[in-house]
Amino acid sequence: MRAKLEGLRRRLGAINDLNAAAALLYWDQTTHMPPGGAAARARQIATLRKLAHQQLIHSSMGRLLDVLTPYEKSLPYDSDEASLIRVTRRDYERAAKVPAAFMAQLSNHMAATYEVWTKARPTNDFAAVASYLEKTLDLSRQLADFFPGYEHIIDPLIDFSNEEMTAATLRPLFSSLHQQLVPLAQAIMANPVADDACLYQQFPEAEQLAFGLEVIARLGYDFTRGRQDKTHHPFMIKFSLGDVRITTRVREDDLGEALFSTMHEAGHALYEQGIRMELEGTPLAGGVSAGVHESQSRLWENLVGRSRGFWHFFYPRLQEVFPRQLGSVPLDTFYRAINKVRPSLVRTNADEVTYNLHVVIRFDLELALLDGTLAVRDLPEAWRERYRTDLNITPADDRDGVLQDVHWYGGLIGGEFQGYTLGNLMGAQFFAAALAAHPNLYQEIEQGKFDTLRGWLGDHVYQHGSKYQPSELIERATGAPLNIDPYIHYLRTKYGELYHL
Ligand code: ZN
Repeated sequence: MRAKLEGLRRRLGAINDLNAAAALLYWDQTTHMPPGGAAARARQIATLRKLAHQQLIHSSMGRLLDVLTPYEKSLPYDSDEASLIRVTRRDYERAAKVPAAFMAQLSNHMAATYEVWTKARPTNDFAAVASYLEKTLDLSRQLADFFPGYEHIIDPLIDFSNEEMTAATLRPLFSSLHQQLVPLAQAIMANPVADDACLYQQFPEAEQLAFGLEVIARLGYDFTRGRQDKTHHPFMIKFSLGDVRITTRVREDDLGEALFSTMHEAGHALYEQGIRMELEGTPLAGGVSAGVHESQSRLWENLVGRSRGFWHFFYPRLQEVFPRQLGSVPLDTFYRAINKVRPSLVRTNADEVTYNLHVVIRFDLELALLDGTLAVRDLPEAWRERYRTDLNITPADDRDGVLQDVHWYGGLIGGEFQGYTLGNLMGAQFFAAALAAHPNLYQEIEQGKFDTLRGWLGDHVYQHGSKYQPSELIERATGAPLNIDPYIHYLRTKYGELYHL
């Protein structure tokens, strides 16, 4: 059996190499490639991904997994070996259920829709993408139908990125969150809005980038196993556990843009850099779900990076870097500026308190689109209506309304947005558990020390990679199932103090 298992590892290693090569081509495309390379590059990436996919769904892979099943059952559930066989089987079965011709049709349609959207958004032309979106809805339903037995048609789509989550588990979670957030946001809004003018001065790019790197080095991002480059949209990408890169974007008239996106992506990277080296080259060597991944980016960006203690340590240094801009701005003013709460139209610019309201709106609209109670042509109005009732503001046009996010125009309907809110909830739950284990965590953060927090996350979350399903990981790490209490407690404490609620 050992030899069979070694055979599996070798095959998975080759699949991993093909995917990593495709990822590297993508990284190059977004950072350094001249525009002329676009068409060939898309083809090259598709070729590598196809080869990887073919190797994964090959019938001999199925036979090998069958042979290994009794061996898996003889091993402890949480051993690396049993986990490897279990997770590979899940990936194999998931990939084998969808015909290659359908995947090709889907990816062609996504690319075409994305093209149309990039022109439709600036010209506020929802009509131009409507028929594409109808097709996306149709394909999303078809994809779900390759996984029969679901309760709600969104369930298989959610499962791709957030395993085990379903409409039935998310609806009560999100509705109780919604119930708590609306009055909290209203209570904050009854106060004068924070003055954040200090963030919108001229901040030269080079100094911003250098300061961002200084911050994430201190958080523990390992530059011998990573680097940062600039891209249009920031992201984290991994080629191996020894090479986990991040990107950022800088706006010289907005200090928050690069600073917080750098910490966000570094949070994703700390997770990947923290995975045990023994899992390298296998499907276990990656973050376990979109939600858990986002919990780490948001934990470092928000719970740490927007905390008073963090800036107690870093603000004097930031003032040193930008004496003219921030020398006479008190810490308290800066702290209030980076935690300004106000209803906004654009999800990606939203503050911690209102952010999840944007996600819940999208989730509800996706459910309605998929179960047929909302037609694509009625989507823009349904969008405006929800913003009116939930956030008390109405987009003037579709540009900052239904056309704002790339997700529906470059991917499926259903399956993605909820990961952001799951990340916020999980991040707060992990942080609360770390704090319970190390009550002096905030004092350490105030001294610019992050080893204890990173160590706790490494032990309880990072090192395991994808060995455990998200719910198992959360229960093992925090002793409780996923729930909204730590997140609500965090928001109430922080914003209660900020706004004297
Ligand atoms: Zn993220």
